[in-house]
Parts: sequence; structure tokens; C-alpha cells
Amino acid sequence: MGKATGFKEYTRQTPAYEKAEERVTHYNEFTKPMSAEALAKQGARCMDCGVPFCHQGCPVNNIIPDWNDLVYRNRWKEALEVLHSTNNFPEFTGRVCPAPCEASCTLNLEDSPVAIKTIEHAIVERGWAEGWIAADTSKPRSGKKVAVVGGGPAGMAAAQQLARAGHSVVLYEKNAQLGGLLRYGIPDFKLEKTVIERRAAQLQAEGVEIRTNAHVGVTVPVSELDSYDAVVLTGGSEKPRDLSVPGRELAGVHFAMDFLTQQNRRVSGEAVGVADILATGKTVVVIGGGDTGADCVGTSNRQKAASVSQIEIMGKPPEKEDKLASWPLWPNKLRTSTSHDEGCQRRWAVNTVSFFGENGQVKGLNCVDVDAKFQPIAGTEFVLEADLVLLAMGFVHPVHEGLVDGLGLDKDGRGNVKADTVKYQTSNPKVFAAGDIRRGQSLVVWAIREGRQAARAVDEFLMGASDLPR
Ligand SMILES: Cc1cc2nc3c(=O)[nH]c(=O)nc-3n(C[C@H](O)[C@H](O)[C@H](O)COP(=O)(O)OP(=O)(O)OC[C@H]3O[C@@H](n4cnc5c(N)ncnc54)[C@H](O)[C@@H]3O)c2cc1C
Ligand code: SF4
Repeated sequence: MGKATGFKEYTRQTPAYEKAEERVTHYNEFTKPMSAEALAKQGARCMDCGVPFCHQGCPVNNIIPDWNDLVYRNRWKEALEVLHSTNNFPEFTGRVCPAPCEASCTLNLEDSPVAIKTIEHAIVERGWAEGWIAADTSKPRSGKKVAVVGGGPAGMAAAQQLARAGHSVVLYEKNAQLGGLLRYGIPDFKLEKTVIERRAAQLQAEGVEIRTNAHVGVTVPVSELDSYDAVVLTGGSEKPRDLSVPGRELAGVHFAMDFLTQQNRRVSGEAVGVADILATGKTVVVIGGGDTGADCVGTSNRQKAASVSQIEIMGKPPEKEDKLASWPLWPNKLRTSTSHDEGCQRRWAVNTVSFFGENGQVKGLNCVDVDAKFQPIAGTEFVLEADLVLLAMGFVHPVHEGLVDGLGLDKDGRGNVKADTVKYQTSNPKVFAAGDIRRGQSLVVWAIREGRQAARAVDEFLMGASDLPR
């Protein structure tokens, strides 16, 4: 433990942001880094609890108290080693993780958890800046060939772990670049794409062969996978939830991912390839109150929408959770993202009854307030004008056509690829599944965890035993 009285002496501090009116003029990240001295004080706040709830709250079980202490002692390189021992890509989670570790932190009982995510982000960025992050090719080659299909965080983590175990890994990705939803869903203002590119370069230096523009089951025959000793499916949960109400067919009603992907491609200089969906000058309504919805709000404001509203069918969560009832678990409470702070009307407990339009173009939504059981409340009908509607209601399951059905794999009751979290093995013994394709839509940190654990399961399958961490 760094400083016994640290938590009493120092208050929680997290990075400042560029002002909303300035950051909406560009797509870059807008967090202002903190000094090493300020970060040391934040590390000093950690109490090195006998039962570190943060460690259990973190899906990759980051060894948080240890790196908090090392940052306090100015031993950053060792902090980086501890951080990398549980997480291949802390710069991804350090940017976009909702930080369940902070919800679990003992200091959160008094509303001021250790700034764990800020410290994580700072450690790994220091590592990149100092040149401490290099390719690891220490393990001798095993002679085994593994295909990983899907280049999101689960696939990247699995590929890296398997290459480090000595296997020859080919990583297939249908898009032009690696990263999955980090690349084509999450906007640059939350995660700049060079952050993914430098990891892709590291993977290549470690021997991973990256095959992009390779859509297995579409442009690459599924039979090509027969030539591998094992296959890991990490294709994500890409089937969006639709809203089957009258007027859905009107022009101007789009899935959120179609809108977000286009903007990420524009920022990267990649061709959009289809008709532009732009919020510029439009009255935008986003349906769905989660991360994807918030990303649509931030992107619409950067595209200079006339106005942005967001509606959600669930009721408004409480402003503040009841800590004694919720801690150390993830609490249900109102979350206001930086994108909401940039300008957005939010409304909860609202159902969309239909869309209406003129000459085939959407002009608005007929809505109604609903009760806790999502039943319409008579007399609360209202109209929202809109000339761009973005459906951000999540994803139902992976795309089945092509890869999953081509391999004839069993699915679970929700349509995800069936596999457990010990062996990660599907109904085909040499095919494994990890990340959103197995667990359904989730978080980056869970994808990394599953990619790592599935890699260990594959290594055991191929070699009979594994040194890879679980
Ligand atoms: C807009 C948006 C914002 C989000 N924001 C956050 C956030 O702030 N924090 C957070 O933790 N999580 C967030 N998430 C969720 C998070 O991004 C996902 O849970 C995570 O990326 C899942 O990782 P994955 O590797 O399992 O799948 P994905 O990231 O979906 O990657 C799957 C990859 O497989 C490829 N693929 C699919 N099928 C094939 C095939 N047949 N052949 C070749 N390649 C294929 C896809 O092109 C894709 O690149 C967000 C999601 C969205 C949509
Ligand atoms: S729960 Fe909080 S205070 Fe306790 S060890 Fe973890 S980060 Fe430190």
C-alpha cells in the first residue's frame, strides 16, 4: 500500500475535457492528460484492501491495488507489466470501459472511488511513449495452425495469446481494418483508431498473419477452415434489433451502426461505399438509450445536426444509486455521457408507435409514454418531428448466415454460438467461440477476457496443457 493516509489526504481527480463547444468541432479524443504527480496522488488513494473488490469487479481481474501502488512509487514500467499480465489492450479499456472496478471500489461507498480507469490509461500510454511495449516472440513455434475469425477485441486478444504460445495464427477480418466495433462503431472522439493500429502492428510483429477484407462464409469459403488445427470464432453479435412499426420503410430511418460506421470510415479516409447518411442540418431522433445511442448523439452534434433527441423505452433511472443496496455490484443509475453534455434532449419511458413521412421521407414519430410494464398510458400520445431516425436498440445475436450456419454449429436459446466459459468449445470440437458471438452484445473488457480464456482453452486442446493465464 502506497500511502496509508492517502485516501484521507487526496480527493478523487479524473482528467479534464476540452470544452463541449470546442470538442464538437472535431472528431479527436478530448481528454486532457494528468501529470505524473497528480496520478501518483490518485494511486496513493488506494487502500490495498484485504478483499480488493475492484479486482473482483473487473472482468479481466486486473491486479489493481498493485499497479496503484507502483504508480504512487513512480515505478511505471513495473506497473505496466502487472497491467499487461491480465489485459492485452489496457488502452482500449482505459478509454471506453464503463469501469465496473470503480463501482466495486471500497471508496465508492463514499462516492469517490480510486480513479482506476484513469491510472490504467496513463500507465499504458506511458508504456507506448517510452517504447516499453514491444513484440513478444519468446516462445518456440509449436507447428500448430489456428484460424481466428473476427478481428475485434476478442479476436485480437485470442490471436495475440495464441501467437505468444507459439502457434501459427491467421486472423481473418471481413472489414478493411482490425478492431471490430472499436474501429467501426465507437467514434474516434472516444477512441482514435491509431490506438488499434499500433496493436495490429504488434500482433503482426508477433507472427499473427492478418487477412483483412476476408469475409469467411462469404468471400472466403468456410471449407478453408478445415486446414487448421483449431478455429476460434470471434465474429461479434452483429444482427441489429429492428423496430417493426408502420413507417419503418421510410427513407431517413437507419440502423445506428450504418450511420456510425460511415463516419468512422470518413475520419480514417476509407471509402464509405454507399449513400451518405448525414445528420447535418437535420432534426435527429435516436431511439435507444445505451452506449450506441450516446455515440449517435455525439456524432450527430459533430455533423452539425439542427437538434438531437434521444428516447428510451425504459424508465428514467435514479440520479443516484442506493449504495448500501447495490455496492459492490454495478448499479442502476442515470448515466450522462460527454456526448449528452454536448447537447441532447433525453426522454425516458417512451414507445415509438409508428413513423410518418412525406413522399417516402420520414418526417416524425408517433410516440406514447409507457408504464413500468411498457404498456401505453392513455392520453400521453405525442409527436416527435424527425428527418433522421437512428435505431440504437442493440443487437439480437450474431449473423447466422455464412459462417455459423456454414459450420453447422449449435446455438443457445438466444441465437448465440453455444459454448461454455471453461472450454469455449462449440458443438464442433475443433471450433471455439469467444466474445459477443458467444455471450451476446456486451463490453470490450468481456471480449478481451473471453479472447484470452478461449486462447488458453485452444492451447490446452492442441498441446494437452497450457501456460497461458486464464
Ligand atoms: C456503437 C457502439 C458503442 C459501444 N461502446 C462501448 C463502450 O463504450 N465500452 C464498451 O466496453 N463496449 C462498447 N460497445 C460494445 C463493444 O464494442 C463490444 O462488446 C465488443 O467490441 C465485442 O467484441 P468482439 O470482438 O466480440 O466483437 P466485435 O467488436 O463485434 O468484432 C467482431 C469482428 O468480427 C468480424 N467478423 C464478423 N463475421 C466475420 C466473418 N464471417 N469473417 C470475417 N470477419 C468477421 C467483424 O467485422 C468484426 O470486426 C459498443 C458497441 C457499439 C455497437
Ligand atoms: S477496492 Fe479501491 S481502495 Fe480497495 S484495493 Fe481496490 S482500488 Fe484500492
